[in-house]
Amino acid sequence: MSTRKPRPLALGSLVLHGGDDPASRLSDAPVVPALFQSVNYLQEVGTADGLRYPRYGNSPNAEALQKRLALLDGAEASVLLSSGMGATACALLALLRPGDHLLASSWIYGGTRALLEEEFTSLGIEVSLVDPLETRVWRKALRSNTRAVFVESPVNPTCRVLDLKGVSFVTKHEGMALVVDSTFASPINFRPLEHGADVVIHSATKYLNGHHDVLGGVVSGTIPYVEEVRKKMMLWGQAPDPFAAWLLERGLKTLDVRVQRQNDNAMQVAEWAEGRREIRRVHYPGLASHPDHAIAKRTLDGFGGMMAIELAGGARTTDRMLRRLRLFRHAPSLGGVDSLVSEPRFTSHAHYSPAERARLGIPDGFLRISIGIEHADDLIADLDQAIR
Ligand SMILES: *Cc1c(COP(=O)(O)O)cnc(C)c1O
Repeated sequence: MSTRKPRPLALGSLVLHGGDDPASRLSDAPVVPALFQSVNYLQEVGTADGLRYPRYGNSPNAEALQKRLALLDGAEASVLLSSGMGATACALLALLRPGDHLLASSWIYGGTRALLEEEFTSLGIEVSLVDPLETRVWRKALRSNTRAVFVESPVNPTCRVLDLKGVSFVTKHEGMALVVDSTFASPINFRPLEHGADVVIHSATKYLNGHHDVLGGVVSGTIPYVEEVRKKMMLWGQAPDPFAAWLLERGLKTLDVRVQRQNDNAMQVAEWAEGRREIRRVHYPGLASHPDHAIAKRTLDGFGGMMAIELAGGARTTDRMLRRLRLFRHAPSLGGVDSLVSEPRFTSHAHYSPAERARLGIPDGFLRISIGIEHADDLIADLDQAIR
């Protein structure tokens, strides 16, 4: 009999089998895990141990999935929440108390920014937003009460890619937590814990589920930290419904094949777009013209399915183009199997002023594109007929 340990599974297998329950191997077990659409479970008489209630994050469907998500992120533990915003809120509430200071990148999702600037400051948490590339500025912004640094990479919607090396060197040295929202990459393309992050956040609504039909969020980190996040989730009521967990497990099975296809498709669309005179600029980390191409090549396993273009005609021409699209659909959100286009000035960055958006690299006329799994030739043909 062989005593060799089985070799660790690749990500493409982990998405299907990571953390499998041994009972799923017993004869007669269903290949697809059962959905336990129940919020109440029988309790043992005379003890509080083993109390099961989905708001605690321990519905059978959430528990199975959390083990798998931790393996994908390379973390000790993960917790599944009801949305990406719920994940960000609970991840940070578990780290910060009134009087603490949070240093955050200014290149973040609009909802996250509102959460930090409006909600967290009203709780007495100090927040500073800094340009993540100006390391000297943000080193100066560190205070004696700084507890955590928050960054998003790749960045929504500019597709900038941050190098975590410098920032993680400082956070490790100062004993602060580095929290990274890497929704845009998914663990297939980027695993921040391998690059010095302490905490990873995903909006599972995007790539992890991938089918535009589930809201969810994930926080991954050490076991004691994730336990703290779970407490916040429980008390602030941010746990997912069992059906969302069941659907997410189903979506997750194809994460690797979807993202590989989206990476390939986006590269082809970006290369085509770069040659077009109707398009002033293409933002895609896989292109040599992208300002972070070298960092992306070094730190990512794939350049991703997200890209952006700026039409040469500016904001005047976007309406016309968007109305002419036949395959791409004009809708917010991202990371699913269907290709979508959106204008950040009317979605994630609607509450920024035009000048502020321009400063963040999102001038009017900027279109964010979430590449799906359709055939690349059809995607290119659709864009081509729409911009002519
Ligand atoms: C969508 C998104 C979120 C918020 O996630 P929800 O699931 O919509 O709550 C957070 N961060 C990034 C980068 C996102 O794209």
